[in-house]
Amino acid sequence: MNDITFFKAFNPPTTNRRIVRKINNIISSGQFICGKHVKFFETAFAKYHQVKYCTALNSGTAALHLALLALNIGHPDEVILPSHTFFATAEAISLVGAKPVFADIDSKTMTIDPQDVESKINSHTKAIIPVHLYGQLAAIKKLKKVANKHGLFLIEDAAQAHGARLNQQKAGTFGQIGCFSFYPTKNLGAFGEAGATITNSKKLDQKIKMLRDHGQEKKYFHRFIGLNYRLNEIQAVVLKEKLFLLDLWVKKRQQIASWYQADLNHLDHIILPQSKKPQHHAYHLFVIRVKNRNQLQNYLSRKNISTMIHYPIPIHHQPPYKKIYSKLKLPHTDTVVSQILSLPLYPQLKRHQVFKITNTIKSFYT
Ligand SMILES: *Cc1c(COP(=O)(O)O)cnc(C)c1O
Repeated sequence: MNDITFFKAFNPPTTNRRIVRKINNIISSGQFICGKHVKFFETAFAKYHQVKYCTALNSGTAALHLALLALNIGHPDEVILPSHTFFATAEAISLVGAKPVFADIDSKTMTIDPQDVESKINSHTKAIIPVHLYGQLAAIKKLKKVANKHGLFLIEDAAQAHGARLNQQKAGTFGQIGCFSFYPTKNLGAFGEAGATITNSKKLDQKIKMLRDHGQEKKYFHRFIGLNYRLNEIQAVVLKEKLFLLDLWVKKRQQIASWYQADLNHLDHIILPQSKKPQHHAYHLFVIRVKNRNQLQNYLSRKNISTMIHYPIPIHHQPPYKKIYSKLKLPHTDTVVSQILSLPLYPQLKRHQVFKITNTIKSFYT
């Protein structure tokens, strides 16, 4: 079959051989937790972002959770975030006992609208969590201004934005703490679950390092109530080796996005991702907007082309939140969510496959 899957993770064989060799060494050493590889990866990931500190964790959700705990955010604080994101962004806020306050998105960029953010600030507001959705930075300059003006923390959910930047400054480095996920499908993916925080604050980083390890300041001396959010050595080795590929793979993603743009830009039925600087976009996902989205998705599926919807239900409509937020109106979020469709995009996708996808989309409309 000529199936085009939505996602495929394959590394160059040389990278895989190196990883296997290092995993064998870990197995022989017996040191699976708190060894040298986690530290190696942290140093490399901090350096990649030109920041001082990185703490490796066992998921992106853990990164968001610990960022909030490290900043002492909890009940009755409020944290502003988009509703159009992966559930974990809101979950972390609720887990620390704070209240998620959902702001609308700018329908052009599909990221949080700084004006709507500002209108939702009150005396309980402690932080803003912009999400660099689909690999594109949110309006980070404006958000930073709003945060500074009102004395709020800025925590970036950069789980989809490894390698995205604004000029030379990378996603995750604009606020107090940047949060990353290395879930296998992300731009930098582990061989399982993993995540990290980055920061320039020694104090915040030390607290996050204690919190990930049961709040331990030293062995069996527990300064805080923490969690077990440690990353294991095997995932750290995988990430360290794959970090070398990140920039190259982001370039490939940008090239594939440019093929989609070239093939589809003259179609009136489709709104393509809009980016002033495509060279800054990390293209974690290539998300188009169309009116008859479900029919198009079914049609593509019948032609063996897999697509997905990121995400089909905004968070304020999800069961744990929908009663509390039944009166909340986020018109741009609701419209955009009914129209979005994510097309296949991974570094090894070939030109002829993109042609097949775009020609099939064209045939749907004619
Ligand atoms: C993937 C993702 C997360 C959660 O990361 P996990 O590693 O799966 O816990 C959080 N926020 C966004 C925007 C994500 O895409």
